[in-house]
Amino acid sequence: MENAMVSDAISGSSWSLPHPRSQQEVELHAYLTTLTLPLTHDKDDIFEWVAGNSPLCVFRSSTTWEVLRSRQEKKDWVDVVWFKGAVPKHCFTMWVTNYDRLPTRSRLAGWGMLVSAECAFCSRFDETRDHLMLTCEYSTQVWKEVLLRCQSPSTLLTNWSELLSWIRSSPSKKLTLLRKLATQTTIFHLWKQRNNLMHNQTSISPESIFYGIDKDMRNIISVRRVSKHFRSLMAMWLR
Ligand SMILES: [Zn+2]
Repeated sequence: MENAMVSDAISGSSWSLPHPRSQQEVELHAYLTTLTLPLTHDKDDIFEWVAGNSPLCVFRSSTTWEVLRSRQEKKDWVDVVWFKGAVPKHCFTMWVTNYDRLPTRSRLAGWGMLVSAECAFCSRFDETRDHLMLTCEYSTQVWKEVLLRCQSPSTLLTNWSELLSWIRSSPSKKLTLLRKLATQTTIFHLWKQRNNLMHNQTSISPESIFYGIDKDMRNIISVRRVSKHFRSLMAMWLR
């Protein structure tokens, strides 16, 4: 295609174009039929790259990307899921959890799969996202320790929107960052343990889960300590 000429798309006195396969191609064909055919002996071909309303006629990948992708309204949870310094695998689990798309037993049973809908941790309630991640007595014991380290010893989180509000209601930006990191690490570890329990029958105590979270938090903060946002976070977490 690199050496293709406009004249290749002309047969005699009309356009010779392949059958359109998209709406854009239909529109392009419709537009071309309004043009007078360029005469092959008239001028040499030149290439122009037109992207949106950009006045530049040269190819720019950034301009082209902005024109091609469809932008949606910015989601109100975006700052809690994606932020500078976050751990990618934690962000991903948080993103899926935030959309309530984790394959919890309650959802699996809802899809008609022959599984019990009971919570893998306590077997007393349906395993929904909010139960598994926030209100199950197993998870609550983990959260108690996490909340203490995030300077909210008396907070009880009963649903997902409360969790998001709790993160945002921090009195300082540093504490917000600490809460975001701690929340993502906790969600990740709880989901990992739920899977371990279901698939490997590995049962461990909430204290051990918190031990893993604490270790992760220390490592996350430690490797980012040169960044000014993380500088005093270790002291906050260990307080
Ligand atoms: Zn439970």
